[in-house]
Amino acid sequence: MLRFWFAIPLWQRVVGALILGVITGMLWGPGAESIRWMGDLFIRAIRMLVVPLIFFSVVAGVASIGDLRKLGAVGWRALLLFVVTGQIAVWMGIGLGVLFAPGSNVDTSAIERGPTPEPVEVTAVEMLLSVIPENPVEVMATAQVLPLIVFALLLGIGIVMAKEEGLPVARIFDSGAVVMQKVTIIVMELTPFGVFALMAWVAGTLGQDALIALAGLVALNYAGCLAIIFIVYVGIVRVLAKLPIIAFFRGMADAIVVAYSTASSNASLPVTLRCTQRNLGVSRSTSSFVVSLGATINMDGTAMYLGLATIFGAQIFGVELVFGDYLMIALLSTLGAIGAAGIPGAGLIMMALVFSAVSVPLETIAFVAGVDRIMDMMRTATNVTGDGAVTVAVAEMIGEIDEEEMVSADDV
Ligand code: ASP
Repeated sequence: MLRFWFAIPLWQRVVGALILGVITGMLWGPGAESIRWMGDLFIRAIRMLVVPLIFFSVVAGVASIGDLRKLGAVGWRALLLFVVTGQIAVWMGIGLGVLFAPGSNVDTSAIERGPTPEPVEVTAVEMLLSVIPENPVEVMATAQVLPLIVFALLLGIGIVMAKEEGLPVARIFDSGAVVMQKVTIIVMELTPFGVFALMAWVAGTLGQDALIALAGLVALNYAGCLAIIFIVYVGIVRVLAKLPIIAFFRGMADAIVVAYSTASSNASLPVTLRCTQRNLGVSRSTSSFVVSLGATINMDGTAMYLGLATIFGAQIFGVELVFGDYLMIALLSTLGAIGAAGIPGAGLIMMALVFSAVSVPLETIAFVAGVDRIMDMMRTATNVTGDGAVTVAVAEMIGEIDEEEMVSADDV
């Protein structure tokens, strides 16, 4: 029985649970609330991961950027492109959410909300002070993500500055990051049960409007990702890399397909490397560096989605957002995308980070979890296409692209 269960790929179990959950909810009606605890259990497990996952992956990420000094020319250009495209993506997500308001017609009054931290009125100075942790342990215990990220960044920089002597600590964090990815995989095994219960509850208590809202969110997620690919990346490939668009997409096709089907930037990494080197003619050293860095920190699809999903959550639960909140959403979505591991469902976990900062109820995660996989596939395809676009652009800027190779890829 168990073997049969695990033989089915997780995403198929999730989709099955989604369909079954919707049917159960429709038949059962408001009574489906009684199995909501299974969904809450899933959300608690996700929340459990946020602090250690961010802590280990940010420290490990910064520590590995230590190599950037050596590879300065490549590193700064790549980072700049990652940051610029990430910002365009985040604001596109926020813009799509505000413009199309996919969550505005859902009546969530039937949902009993858990306690949501009230936004506290703070002055700019207080806000600045609050991002510097007075006590890193307390920050972790109370899951304050922004000061936690600041501490993790400083720790990473310290490791780099300590050079040789910092290596043992760097290794601990590297290994910790890998271990946390495995723990995430364990928690993701709860998804089918969580999704079943949550969808039954959503369909049973909120009815059709909720399902229509979810379909709207999925459509906007696809629209946003396609816009990033066809406007931002095409622009980069044409203007900065000076490459023919068709050749770029043909060269990257394998990686994009693998990314879409596995929903994992990490799993796609070997194929992305091969595509950029063999099909697009980027030198081995440049592509290894930029593609691996990109697979870890460059996630424009995820950044766009985090912005969009936060606006969606605010709409379904009627949370008023002021200008400062949008800035906070943009900042945390950017950090969330950087901190997200390149594995399926990572974006879902990072939602907890952005939501808590702007008082959007975490129940939103429950609401969208059932359809996360199909959005994740598109996010990941976008993330990987972005890694390819930035890699060819940087390679062209520093003269490490072999056009001959590219043209030959054309004939494949
Ligand atoms: N699955 C995505 C990736 O691997 C991350 C996410 O969940 O958005 O790139």
